[in-house]
Amino acid sequence: MAGLFAVIGNPIEQSRSPELHYAFAEKLGIELSYQKRLAPLDGFEASVTEFFAQGGSGMNVTVPFKEQAYALCDVLTERAQIAKAVNTLWQKDGQLYGDNTDGQGLVDAILELNWSLKNTRILILGAGGATRGVIYPLVKAGAKHITVANRTLVRAEQLIGDLKHAVPEAELDIVELAKLSGEYDLVINATSASLSGEAIILPPELKFHHAYEMAYGKPSTFIEQAKARGVPTTEGFGMLVGQAVESFAIWHGVKPELKDFL
Ligand code: NDP
Repeated sequence: MAGLFAVIGNPIEQSRSPELHYAFAEKLGIELSYQKRLAPLDGFEASVTEFFAQGGSGMNVTVPFKEQAYALCDVLTERAQIAKAVNTLWQKDGQLYGDNTDGQGLVDAILELNWSLKNTRILILGAGGATRGVIYPLVKAGAKHITVANRTLVRAEQLIGDLKHAVPEAELDIVELAKLSGEYDLVINATSASLSGEAIILPPELKFHHAYEMAYGKPSTFIEQAKARGVPTTEGFGMLVGQAVESFAIWHGVKPELKDFL
C-alpha cells in the first residue's frame, strides 16, 4: 500500500515516527508520504475521519489517543483487543482496522539484544497503557511470571483482572511500587516518571539481571541505578523502532529488518 501515512497525537512535534517510516521506505524502495498530525484533545475522531477521507492509507496513534483509537475501530486484532489500545489504523472495505504493535516491538527489541525471554520472571513498573500492551506479547515470547508494580495499586489490580484470562499459561501478580523485593530476570520501567524528571527508587531487596527503560532520550534514575549495579540496560528507542517495523509490515506487506535501524 503506497500513499499517505501519518502519526496522530497531542503533542506530536516530538514524534520520531516519520523519520523511521521514511528510512524503511527508502531502504525497501517504497514511495510514501508520512505526516505528523496534531489532533485537538477533543477532536481525535474528527481528525481520523478527515485523514481517511483525504485518501490516507494508514495512521499511527500516540499519546493520549490509543484508547480512543481502540474504541473507534470496526475490526481489531487479537492483541489490540487484549491491550484495549490501538497504535496502528488502516481502512479496508470501508471498515476501520486497528492493531497494537507496541508489545511486539518491545519483544523484538529485547530479543535483538540477545536477552532471552523464555521462562523468565519479569517485573514491570507502571500499570498504564504501555504495560497493557506488552503483557500478552511478553507471555507469548516465553515469560512465565509477570509482576506489575504501580504507585496506584488499584490500577494494577484492574489491569491484571483484565488481562489474566488472555495469558493463562503465565502467573501474574501485583505489588506496590514502594514495596519492591524479590528476584527477576528483567525489570521494565513502564512508568512515565523519567518523562517528568521524577525518580524511581529500586531498593536493595530487589534483585534483577536486566533493565529496560521504555522512555528514551531522557535522563532516567531507573537506568542510573541499574548501571550502578552492573546490570545490562537499554532504553526504549529499540521498542519504538520495533513497533514502527510492525506497523510498516501491516501497511506495505514487507517487513524492514529491525537491526538495520537501531
Ligand atoms: P500512562 O500515562 O498510561 O501510565 C503512566 C504510568 O506511570 C502509570 O502507571 C503511573 O502510575 C506511572 N507513573 C507516572 N509518574 C510516576 C512517578 N513519578 N512515580 C511512579 N510511577 C509513576 O503512560 P504509558 O503507559 O502510555 O507510557 C509509559 C512510558 O512508556 C512512558 O515513558 C512512555 O514514553 C513509554 N512508552 C514508550 C514506547 C516506546 O516505543 N519506546 C511506547 C509506549 C510507551 P499511576 O497509575 O500511579 O499514576
